Amino acid sequence: MTSLARLLALTLALVLSACATSPAREPRAPVILISIDGFRPDYLERGVTPTLKRLAGEGASAAMRPSFPSNTFPNHYTLVTGLRPDQHGIVDNTMTDPQIPGVRFAMSNKAAVTEARWWEGAVPVWVSAARAGVRTGTMFWPGSEAPIGGVRPTHWRPFDQKVPANARVDQVLAWLDAPADRRPRFLTLYFDEVDTAGHTVGPDSALMAKSLASTDAAIARLLEGLKARNIAANLVIAADHGMAPISPQRVTWLEDVLPAGAAEVVTTGATAGLVPAAGREAEAEQALLASHPNMTCWRKGEIPAALAYGRHRRVPPIFCLARTGWLIMSRSRPAVGAGAHGYDPADPLMAALFIGHGPDIRPGRLASIDNVEVYGLVMALLGLRPEPGTAPAPVATGVLENR
Ligand SMILES: [Zn+2]
Repeated sequence: MTSLARLLALTLALVLSACATSPAREPRAPVILISIDGFRPDYLERGVTPTLKRLAGEGASAAMRPSFPSNTFPNHYTLVTGLRPDQHGIVDNTMTDPQIPGVRFAMSNKAAVTEARWWEGAVPVWVSAARAGVRTGTMFWPGSEAPIGGVRPTHWRPFDQKVPANARVDQVLAWLDAPADRRPRFLTLYFDEVDTAGHTVGPDSALMAKSLASTDAAIARLLEGLKARNIAANLVIAADHGMAPISPQRVTWLEDVLPAGAAEVVTTGATAGLVPAAGREAEAEQALLASHPNMTCWRKGEIPAALAYGRHRRVPPIFCLARTGWLIMSRSRPAVGAGAHGYDPADPLMAALFIGHGPDIRPGRLASIDNVEVYGLVMALLGLRPEPGTAPAPVATGVLENR
């Protein structure tokens, strides 16, 4: 019911003119999928992001629900595949795989991140596009550095956080400077400053303003560049998750809960994934599955259905979720900071920015949108058939024409 309601809300608000009026052979507008990492929708109300505020007002906008866990890699891959992390297999920023023994996938493990086998549980937009003869350019996106199914984006750059936001914009514009028949039609652009600030100073800090403003200025630069080139693009601006304030006083220490050596800790933070030591399964379960004031742990097969998580082989056997604003940490890795995400996607603090703006997008404030729906929108804007098993696309389902 709720997913149908969301679909209808999205459908009513977003009209893809190509389905109604444009001749089939008319070149479609390029689609630029822009991620602003960790941008909570209420940041728009702080008065420091005039460009984004204008785009939200002129276009379609919503507070978007992320997928669980509300972390960066799982949600970026959901945005470009239309599948939940439990389905596409990027189940967390850090993970292990019983079928890939001895390797720890992590955002910082360049070798793993560029290996296709971690990503091949789904087909991202740029792979479908390539197979349909559509050129693409990814100015950073999780998964874009791996030859998924043997296919890479037409243009891509290895992730380098030091590349300034404006240079990222200029790269996208440079790709669009190609002659019309060689111009990419699907592009991505990724900004990380807002997330970094949220972690460092906390989402409620006035010090967030600088990173919000500089990211907004980069988007303004993109708009100016598009205008100068007379390119009318469909912009889909999405965050991967929100940000909650945290405190060194709000930590559940695993050492206080778990007997030493009873489990290997795969991840810590807003969630924790644990693999019980061989022969100590019952001991680890008894300790973790017991009632804790600020954390709930489950066997992976017993995670509440609303979180849509726990079936994939990469999800650790025991998975714990902290109360929002709390952390689950190990004293051997006590990093805390002032902001965190990864919490229950239903918490408004985890909501992610969504803005759609462009010639094929009907303006309006959406009641809600789930981030698993963004893929269908992007594929519809590109005129591409969504991969089997993905969330319904507003146009492909035909719901639009029947309303
Ligand atoms: Zn993120």
